[in-house]
Amino acid sequence: MLSMQSTFDQFYVSANNESIRSAHEGLLDKRLVFGALSFGYLGELIPGELTSRKRPRSRIVIDPEAADLVRQIYRWYVEERMQTIQIMRRLNAMSEPMLPPNCKSGRWTRGAVERVLKNRRYRGCWEYGVTESVYLPEQDYVTKHFRAEPLRAAQIEELRIVTDELWHAVQVRRLDGGHGGRNANDGDSVKRPVLLNGIFVCPAHQEKQRLWVGGNRGQYMVCPVCQGIESKSRPLFSMLNRELAAQLTCHKCAELLMASDETLIGEVVSACQAEVQESQLPDPGQVARLKSELQGLSASIAAALRNPGVTEADQAETDSLVRDFRSQRAKVAAKLGFLGSALTRAIRVPTVDEVREMLTNLEQILLDGATRDPERVNLVRSTVELLTGGEIELFQAGEARSHGGWLQGRFKLHLLNCLVKKVTGVSALLEHPAVEVIIDYREAPRAKPSLYAPRRFTTKIS
Ligand SMILES: [Zn+2]
Repeated sequence: MLSMQSTFDQFYVSANNESIRSAHEGLLDKRLVFGALSFGYLGELIPGELTSRKRPRSRIVIDPEAADLVRQIYRWYVEERMQTIQIMRRLNAMSEPMLPPNCKSGRWTRGAVERVLKNRRYRGCWEYGVTESVYLPEQDYVTKHFRAEPLRAAQIEELRIVTDELWHAVQVRRLDGGHGGRNANDGDSVKRPVLLNGIFVCPAHQEKQRLWVGGNRGQYMVCPVCQGIESKSRPLFSMLNRELAAQLTCHKCAELLMASDETLIGEVVSACQAEVQESQLPDPGQVARLKSELQGLSASIAAALRNPGVTEADQAETDSLVRDFRSQRAKVAAKLGFLGSALTRAIRVPTVDEVREMLTNLEQILLDGATRDPERVNLVRSTVELLTGGEIELFQAGEARSHGGWLQGRFKLHLLNCLVKKVTGVSALLEHPAVEVIIDYREAPRAKPSLYAPRRFTTKIS
């Protein structure tokens, strides 16, 4: 009897589910409030309309103050490289912190910050039915499963709070594992700075290998693959002194900014002007062209997949063809998305003074170099990443013997692109010329370290 009734119950519930779901999907389409709202949004009452439960009906709108805070959290995470725990503390330190909805503890938690950082709604992507509740009658228990695809997804630009670019930058950093490595056990962050952990790579191997901390008392960085190769044929023989590397890299980056003060300021301003023109270019034809190109590529891929060929050579050819088409299609799709966001993004051309102030700021950050203050370290790190693109390739220079050589770092610097991004907050559409920057990681030959005097690395800035 009981089992009969439970079967009826389940039947009744599942029959109802469908209508509830479709009603919710309809509400999403009309931007009406259902379920819990995320931080950053409000329900705006619609006068005169009632829900079926005779409650006032409301529409989803952006809460301007909370939206500002969301953007701030995103920028803290990406631009200042703050960790979620630091963001949590900063939020709780505010005089009257705005709290996430349904917050019972009265303070921000790491989980709440995490949820803000991964919420897709902030980029206008609203989904319904991402998870599914499954009732297990035997256990009398409800579990949640992720559906393979959400029941309904809609792109709602009016409810966008952050740009696609910022949102993706946050996701890249979240998945990247954040910062590189732990602090030194003994707290000596001068000899063992974490500043550049994860930035150096050894390009000699098939996939560029990131350098690890190693050597005497963890004061060096080494390529773990090279360490496993006989010393005669080891691509990177010398080890990289972490203290020296941090100082020289910061100095070099500062030097690059100082090199051409007034001309550089003018160039940044005119590059920003060019960006504004590029992004305001009234060319709806380009969007249409890209869309038809996208369709054409999809059609070609489908055609190639329908006729993969008979022989192995044919099939290999089809494979490489499809791969090419797919990579082209990805590029076109990315460009289309970028144009879409370019049309909605507003860039303001900065004044000469603003650019000068930004440059002075960056220089100061770099010249301060590796300080002990963890929040400053993040700032220095993000500045170095901005200029180097987050990667410095290392090569062996001099002789591959003890005290006979040193490592040379190289990276491509797109100076104007970096500065335009820094000052406008969005990536440049135009490609500006790049230069290759070379840093020799060795002590200046003249300054021989004395046994008794404190060691200092001198760098010449000319
Ligand atoms: Zn290596």
